[in-house]
Amino acid sequence: MSESNGLKAEVAGAGFAGLVAATTLAQQGWDVTLHERGEELRPLGAGIVLWNNSLEVLKAIGAYDSLLPHTMVPPFYETRIHNETQSLEDFDGLPWRTMTRKALHEALEEAARKAGVKVLVNSEVVAADPSGTITLASGKVRHADLVVGADGVTSNVRDSIGSKDGVTRLIVPRMKEELGGQDEWDNVIDFWNFEPRVLRVLYVPCNDDELYIALMAPIEDEEGSAVPINYDVWAESHPYLAPVLREAAKIENGRYDGYQTNVLKNWSNGKVVLVGDSAHAMCPALAQGAGTAMQNAYTMAMAVSADHLDLPATLQTWEAEEREITDRCQAKSAWYAETRNMSKGNQFTPEVLETAAYNPTEGR
Ligand SMILES: Cc1cc2nc3c(=O)[nH]c(=O)nc-3n(C[C@H](O)[C@H](O)[C@H](O)COP(=O)(O)OP(=O)(O)OC[C@H]3O[C@@H](n4cnc5c(N)ncnc54)[C@H](O)[C@@H]3O)c2cc1C
Repeated sequence: MSESNGLKAEVAGAGFAGLVAATTLAQQGWDVTLHERGEELRPLGAGIVLWNNSLEVLKAIGAYDSLLPHTMVPPFYETRIHNETQSLEDFDGLPWRTMTRKALHEALEEAARKAGVKVLVNSEVVAADPSGTITLASGKVRHADLVVGADGVTSNVRDSIGSKDGVTRLIVPRMKEELGGQDEWDNVIDFWNFEPRVLRVLYVPCNDDELYIALMAPIEDEEGSAVPINYDVWAESHPYLAPVLREAAKIENGRYDGYQTNVLKNWSNGKVVLVGDSAHAMCPALAQGAGTAMQNAYTMAMAVSADHLDLPATLQTWEAEEREITDRCQAKSAWYAETRNMSKGNQFTPEVLETAAYNPTEGR
């Protein structure tokens, strides 16, 4: 932990990006206040896949060890069309892990509190100004040396500095025995069905007890996108998953979300910087939205900590150095979402895994 550097940061949004940015800044000596508009800190969504880039960030900020027992490394990423295996990929030893979002969020929250981040809930940031001020929904104005907009894809911070398949995600019991008990049920399995309608199930075992499933259907398919899920429609398409689909159909408070992306001209303006979905929301095809969010939150926090004499200039230099890899990842994710080419299997080539293999902590 560094000594105080006398600088103040206000961070909007306690998602994965905000928690990593706030923690890293605090560990580097900043006085950090993290604003979350919700009444408590909690993740949106169900399960998540993380790769080397974000796993290295978790190690660097001390959140990895407490998270590890709640994660797993599935033997293979398997892709099936109409339940026929197209590929089994193990990424040649490239680190990757699956987990629930709850476990990831709790580990990050613990790291933030340990680092001394002040967390304010029910605190919505409605506007930010490049001079380094934020305005809260209560009307209060706060001044800082740095404002971080980590307030997600509908970012108010982004809007103040000017600058669709959809999916239902659920956690259900593992039910490995009910599915047949074979070891293949420990794989991440990407089930793509195109006939008679497009319905995809991403099957992600997170630990011995919990299974994350993402049920993807075109927005115009009212039955496929219905919440709670329409058991008959999904079980007819994926009968081998009937036990878990039956459990999934019992969950009434699920959500169907259309894919959202945004590309900005600049990630910062003056002393205000955006990290995570507020800056670069992406389609989930490569499972890298949170990964790049944490990667950029970390590198930004390290950059402004190393050179804070002229923060607007430091932020521009950081963006120039770090942005391209995220832009490429976002473009590839959009292409895969549009073409549905992940269904062919064997798509995790070294080029596609570029971001996954990146280590943002190296040399810092
Ligand atoms: C179907 C799907 C599957 C995905 N799977 C993966 C995966 O496997 N791996 C991966 O890396 N990524 C994945 N992603 C992407 C990932 O979920 C996001 O990129 C990531 O959660 C973004 O984090 P964030 O902190 O930027 O934003 P968010 O998670 O949206 O967090 C924003 C936070 O800010 C708060 N907030 C919002 N507005 C305000 C405000 N004005 N003031 C104060 N607080 C505010 C919100 O309440 C929230 O807590 C997936 C996305 C989708 C849609």
